[in-house]
Amino acid sequence: MRPLHYLAALLSVSSVALADGAFYGDPPDATHPWGIHDHNRPQPSVVEPGSFSSQEKPGTPPSDAVVLFSGQESDLDQWQSDKNPAEPTKWIVKDGLLQCVPGSGYIQTKEKFADCQLHVEWSEPEDITGTSQGRGNSGVFLMGEVEVQVLDIYNNKTYSDGAAGAVYGINPPMANPIRKPGQWQVYDIVFRRPIFKDGKEVDPGYLTVFSNGVLVQDHTPLEGGGGHKKRSQAHPFPEVGPLKLQDHGNPVRFRNIWYRPLPKRAIDGGDTSVMSPEATAKKRAEIAAGIREDAAKLEGKAKMLRLFESTYYAANEDATQSATAMVNEFAAATKAIPADKLQSKKGEIMEVNNALQYLIKFQILPGDFAAAKTLNGIVKANEWDKKKK
Ligand code: MG
Repeated sequence: MRPLHYLAALLSVSSVALADGAFYGDPPDATHPWGIHDHNRPQPSVVEPGSFSSQEKPGTPPSDAVVLFSGQESDLDQWQSDKNPAEPTKWIVKDGLLQCVPGSGYIQTKEKFADCQLHVEWSEPEDITGTSQGRGNSGVFLMGEVEVQVLDIYNNKTYSDGAAGAVYGINPPMANPIRKPGQWQVYDIVFRRPIFKDGKEVDPGYLTVFSNGVLVQDHTPLEGGGGHKKRSQAHPFPEVGPLKLQDHGNPVRFRNIWYRPLPKRAIDGGDTSVMSPEATAKKRAEIAAGIREDAAKLEGKAKMLRLFESTYYAANEDATQSATAMVNEFAAATKAIPADKLQSKKGEIMEVNNALQYLIKFQILPGDFAAAKTLNGIVKANEWDKKKK
């Protein structure tokens, strides 16, 4: 390795190490329980991705998906008639496909869920007949309430808010990427239910739909969920509901149906974005308690830094006191090291000093914090704070 490359590798390793540690980005604030680049923030769960479908063959779902129809006859056990939930569905599985039997009624999942990523594939018969809404009509009803329209619109005009990919009665699809009858159509849907607090709508709920990979609904507000002829009014949805497939009198076929539940929005008690000050304070207290628990298993400098770290999520007198006592000892011991032996301790001293300077910068420790004065004095006297040219 050429010297320059070696140096670059060293630098990049040290910047990764820094980014992984504490006392780095801006700390938590009133509406964000985590700091910027916060290493205490949970890692995303590992998901084994599935495979894409072809016209000939359905793909496979990701590893964390709940499979609602995979082509097995036994998958019908997961579905029931929506009018008479005690009755099994009259829809049939033929050649690995779930097929609507006209006149048999809607079917719904026994499983109830709400916010989700939903994958559904559907296909019309090649010898399709009918016009407008009477041509290959079915529908995917999220929570049994909001219909993403299923219809052959390959060569068939209808009112646009009832076209395939429409949020029925609310919003037309932005494009018509529907393939000709007999081909498979793929919907990938992101659904967020409406949320009410104290009888007031605080989030209208949203649908995002990709139809054959083309974005046709972009975070479309639900406006009450839509419906036939009537303008829907905003109303509370239950916590969860079934997925329904519509019998509109046409023998539409389905395959490869699965969903993945989504994390709650901040407004619904989740912690994925900007949170209320109350929820943030609660979460910060939880994170701090977890770090103090972790610190209790550590010794020495690691324990001290972890205790200090906990205090930028939530003040805690015991944590501050014991970390302060430890850092005072550390500073006194450092001060006693002969000048010619200091260099070997540079890394440790810099690490603790950087932590203290961070805590002072964000007013978590007072500007005149004694150990910080001692350590920073040593750092400056040795010019460790000067960037190398
Ligand atoms: Mg329909």
